Formats: sequence, structure tokens, C-alpha cells
Amino acid sequence: MHDEKRLPGYVGSRLDRVDEIRSNPALLARTFADPAASCVLLDGLDPVIADGVLVMESLPSDAVIEDYVLLGVGPDQRPIFARLIDRAEGGFIASSRSRNVVDEVSADQAALYAGARSLVDWHARHRFCAACGASTRPHKGGWARKCEGCDAEHFPRVDPVVIMLAEHKGRILVGRQHSWPAGRYSALAGFVEPGETVEEAVARELKEEAGITVRDIRYVMSQPWPFPSALMIACIGQAEDDALKLDETEIQDAIWCDAEEIRAVLEERPGAPFIAPPPMAVAWHLLDHWLAHVAPVKASA
Ligand SMILES: [Zn+2]
Repeated sequence: MHDEKRLPGYVGSRLDRVDEIRSNPALLARTFADPAASCVLLDGLDPVIADGVLVMESLPSDAVIEDYVLLGVGPDQRPIFARLIDRAEGGFIASSRSRNVVDEVSADQAALYAGARSLVDWHARHRFCAACGASTRPHKGGWARKCEGCDAEHFPRVDPVVIMLAEHKGRILVGRQHSWPAGRYSALAGFVEPGETVEEAVARELKEEAGITVRDIRYVMSQPWPFPSALMIACIGQAEDDALKLDETEIQDAIWCDAEEIRAVLEERPGAPFIAPPPMAVAWHLLDHWLAHVAPVKASA
């Protein structure tokens, strides 16, 4: 089961991604023909779970490699594939089945699912070349697509998102979006833009959304977020002051909370100032990290 105190959801893969096999057609063919090879079953983009594990199928005898992506080789040396599909619906939507998987299977299986989901969705949405419009075909064991018209290679993309806390004199800033459930607050977040460092994206987003200027930005942890293929990069920065100027199109409200308030939130105590994001979200772990490692330790009375 998912250990909420240890890892965010979809973190904890135990796969060897075997780049040396993906890029070697002879090795790839031998791996695909391995009788121990299996395929993680998906229902569209959703997981299929039975008895607390992802359902795995053997590869059909008439299967062809171009219909599959080689996810990697497991700790038991068995190759694991996922079957590609022509149309994927709802890649941007975190369905309840795809979120609940983190509570229903082990951390490494949830991570396996997340990678499979992102790749299967990417292939379904990239069947034509962005350069010339001709058809593309899976390439390198499903870790690229190659254009049949101009030979361009296209690679699965990952979209970096910064998610961050601003800290000021022992308090941190959390905010809420208009669409969130009542009472829910979390770390502010936004996509990294072309030409930007992670630190610059953190500073820009906090300035745009909350009017806060930050310095000394530190990386804390990251999480793959397979809706469809983001990487959440969690950071903490030091705010120069605590005066807020909210962008009300993006943020409905933002508040500063001290360590006692954050402790009450994470322990879900009555009277806590807000409802925490779920433990599968990296934001929960960022709050927990701040409390454990960064927040000033309060001397016991
Ligand atoms: Zn092309």
C-alpha cells in the first residue's frame, strides 16, 4: 500500500529503463520475444487492478513490437510492456481510478502505471509529424516516434511544473484556486516557461499570483504527475515581505500559516486553518518537509 509518510504518489519506480535495449533493434526483438515478458493492462488510460496489484497479461503470439512500448525490466528481470492505442480520451483528466491507484497498489506499481499512462497518451496524440504532417511510427521501443515523410524523430515530452512555498519569518504562504473544494489550500504552482530556470519560474509565479518577491529558492523533491505528463518540482523560497497582491483570476485567496497551524492541518485537527491537499500530492509532502526540516523548532514550554 502507498506509504503516505514516505513518498508522494507515482514515486518509487523499481524498473530498469534499459536504454541499451530500446535503442538496439536486435536486443529489443529478443526482449519482446522473451516468454517472461508481460504487458500492463490499461482500460483506455485507467489502471486495471485485481487483488491489490496491476493486472499484467502475457504478450499474444501474433503481437508486433510497434504496437507496444517497453517500459523497462523489473527487479525479477521480466520485461514489462504497455500496449499502444490509437485514441486516448481524457489524458488531461485525473480520473478517480487513476488517482486511487496510489492507495490500491504498491508505490512501485503506481509509478509503473504513471509512466505507462503518460507514454500511451503521448503516442495516441502524436500520430502525425509536427514538422511536415506525415504519419509517424513508434520507434526505439516506443520511446520515440519517427516521421515517415521527413524522418524527424519526436520524443515523449515531460512538462515541468514548479510548486512552491514562500517562507517569511516562520510562516509559509498557501493559496486556493476558485475551483477547489471548500476549505482546501495548497502550495501555489505553475508551468515552467521556455527559456526559464526552475528558480526563475518559482520567482515569477509567486510574483504573478501573490505579488511576493522571493530569493534563496531551494529544490525539495519532485513527482511525476501523469495527467498527461507533468513533472512537479517542489521548492521553498524566502519572501522579502509578507504583503500580498493576489491575481484574483488565478487565486481566490492566500494566507500565511505558522508551524503550529501547518501541524494542525497535516494532522487534520478540528479548527485547523485549512484542509490539506491529499497525501498523494507532492504539496502535502512539501508542507510536511517544511514542518520537519525548515520550520523553526518551537521550544517546549
Ligand atoms: Zn515529418
